[in-house]
Amino acid sequence: MALLWSLFEGSEVTDNGDEPRSLVTVRAINTTALRAARAWSLRESEPHAWREISRMHGVLLSFLPPGEGPATPVQMIENLRRPMRDWVSLPWDSLPEELGAFPILGGDDELTGEAVEYGSDYTEALFENHEVDTGWIPRWATQTFEKVERSVYTVLVSAGQEEYVATRQLLVEVPAAPRSVVRDEINARGALRTEAYVPLPPDQQFTSSGSAWYVPCPECRWPMHVRGALLTCRYPQHPGRFEVTFSDAPGTLPVVTGPVPAEALDAAEVVSLHHAVWRYITIPGTTEVGLMRWLAKHRGVEVDRWPHKDRWDITARVGDTVFEIDLKDVRYPSQLAAKPPHVRYVVVPDYRAWQIAQLKRTLPRERYTPCTVRTLKAWVKKALGESR
Ligand SMILES: [Zn+2]
Repeated sequence: MALLWSLFEGSEVTDNGDEPRSLVTVRAINTTALRAARAWSLRESEPHAWREISRMHGVLLSFLPPGEGPATPVQMIENLRRPMRDWVSLPWDSLPEELGAFPILGGDDELTGEAVEYGSDYTEALFENHEVDTGWIPRWATQTFEKVERSVYTVLVSAGQEEYVATRQLLVEVPAAPRSVVRDEINARGALRTEAYVPLPPDQQFTSSGSAWYVPCPECRWPMHVRGALLTCRYPQHPGRFEVTFSDAPGTLPVVTGPVPAEALDAAEVVSLHHAVWRYITIPGTTEVGLMRWLAKHRGVEVDRWPHKDRWDITARVGDTVFEIDLKDVRYPSQLAAKPPHVRYVVVPDYRAWQIAQLKRTLPRERYTPCTVRTLKAWVKKALGESR
């Protein structure tokens, strides 16, 4: 997928003065709700959390007709456990279907996967537009988030095509490793140094038998989020929940059980990608690099990675047939129609196959051919058969 620099995309939202009033309102309410829910999830460790919750209650009420909103901050928190469509009256039928359709706070008092996704996709733009206060805001919407994105972006912009590909591939294939291993990988690949790696955050590691450990997500290899003995990847599409069995006996490895095999690794000296880099480069990149590898292992397929520094993702040539491919891993197909790709093959991961019908309806048929990764592979194989 072409890089989703939310920061830069955000400016497009700012420039759009034609948005319906109800859309602006629902986005502002969403931002407020996300902030309140985030504060709630941190209320035991973050001294400002309660103040943030009551402030967000006030902000929320200011967007709603008198008497309609939750009477107290605690009632507001309870409302966040239900889809907003159930408790805010807005002309929902005229708004994009994804808005207001999911609970923001889960039964475990954490933001739901959907809320985090929504936050990652839209929140910075929202904060830019509707900043109600310059105070404490969720971690994934802070200046650091922007700063890291911007610094990695600057490095990639200055790179030549080969360095670009090497750096991009590193950020997909090495989401976490001991610092010395990352350094060796950078040198061996001819990649550029970035500010993408940070010390492994405390909520992505645990201690057992006196040592610190982390468990890479089986899909993206980024250290899974740890809550007690439960482990999950922060990307909701990645395989389910894992559980770790701790041991007090020194020298014994923690045992990880879950839907697919996963193992605990020593966390000493480990650095991992900053959340923003993981979200916007590693996550889409997992599908991109997977497809690149598949194409490259077929004789007769010539593969160009991120041509013109990511104007699109892959060019694959099979004899006279050229597949120019842009991979799109987004939650809602409406996001694609709003920002159409540069090339014909608009390819979605197999787990988003349901989006194809909608993409065929919304993207001009003469310019785009939407398909899944699986379908594209079948077409490439067919072209290989014909070119022999
Ligand atoms: Zn993952």
